[in-house]
Amino acid sequence: NADAAMYHAKSAGRNNFQFFDAKMNEAALERLGIEHALRQALGRDEFRLHYQPVIDVRTGRVSSVEALIRWQHPTRGLLPPGLFIGVAEETGLIQPIGDWVIWAACRQLADFRAAGIAGVKMAINISAIQMRNSDLSVLARGIIEAYSLVPGDLVFEITESVAMEHPDETVRVLDILHDMGVELALDDFGTGYSSLSYLRMFALDKLKLDRSFVEDIGQDIDGQVICDATIGLAHNLGLEVVAEGVETEEQLAYLKARGCNLIQGYLFSRPVPADEVIAFIRERNFPQ
Ligand code: C2E
Ligand code: MG
Ligand code: MG
Ligand code: MG
Repeated sequence: NADAAMYHAKSAGRNNFQFFDAKMNEAALERLGIEHALRQALGRDEFRLHYQPVIDVRTGRVSSVEALIRWQHPTRGLLPPGLFIGVAEETGLIQPIGDWVIWAACRQLADFRAAGIAGVKMAINISAIQMRNSDLSVLARGIIEAYSLVPGDLVFEITESVAMEHPDETVRVLDILHDMGVELALDDFGTGYSSLSYLRMFALDKLKLDRSFVEDIGQDIDGQVICDATIGLAHNLGLEVVAEGVETEEQLAYLKARGCNLIQGYLFSRPVPADEVIAFIRERNFPQ
């Protein structure tokens, strides 16, 4: 009986394994397909950046814009990053794509300057793999110089989960960027189980309160408590707080009353192409 049970478990295990294997192959094939398509997209210049304004609560002016990548797919239309950034990270393609993002965002910032828009920073999302590459600061320095920008014009955003994956390395790379003068923000804060002791060691300027907590304002007391606690924690650490995903006047009023410094969300603007964000900035920062 014991033997029979053993045999059963083994054969079930083997079947399971085969099933799993087939699934894996399917996933691998699909990934290969996407990888090939992503490579092609780079070569064909199909990536685009959209820009979402971040508003200074105190002045009501645009403080920065966040560059958010899209893929202008020849048949499927404009694809959001959620559909391809994961594969780009798994395949290492995030390295050339991420480099392209920094170049394109900085070129756009130089265009803002040429169009008479000063004092607005460019926020750029940096992936884990880019963070692990010690050339990031060298690349950034080169691009900043190429477009006659200054490091303080840029905000690099890294997600909390990325930072905590390799915290010691993160501390090192953030130090280099911080010494250069690039501003640093911890993205999606509250979702990645930060160790508070590391939080203190990261050379940060800003915490970005994750949208999931902002959503809870007026809805769920626990989420609200996390908003309050994050704002308090950030301010005690000398950091500014950016609230992500602000969609309602109620959320804005709540965050404002608690001293949140910066606001980003559909309430002000969705991420839009460069010409639209330029019009938005002109209206807000330079009213006639
Ligand atoms: P993120 O950096 O946290 O960017 C904020 C996301 O929230 C954006 O989604 C934005 O469109 C969305 N959002 C902003 N305000 C609102 C709002 O009021 N309501 C709602 N429902 N959503 C709002 P998006 O553009 O789809 O980007 C998703 C994520 O993809 C980004 O999250 C970022 O982690 C990643 N990503 C985007 N561009 C890049 C890039 O160039 N490089 C890398 N490595 N990651 C990127
Ligand atoms: Mg971001
Ligand atoms: Mg975020
Ligand atoms: Mg997010």
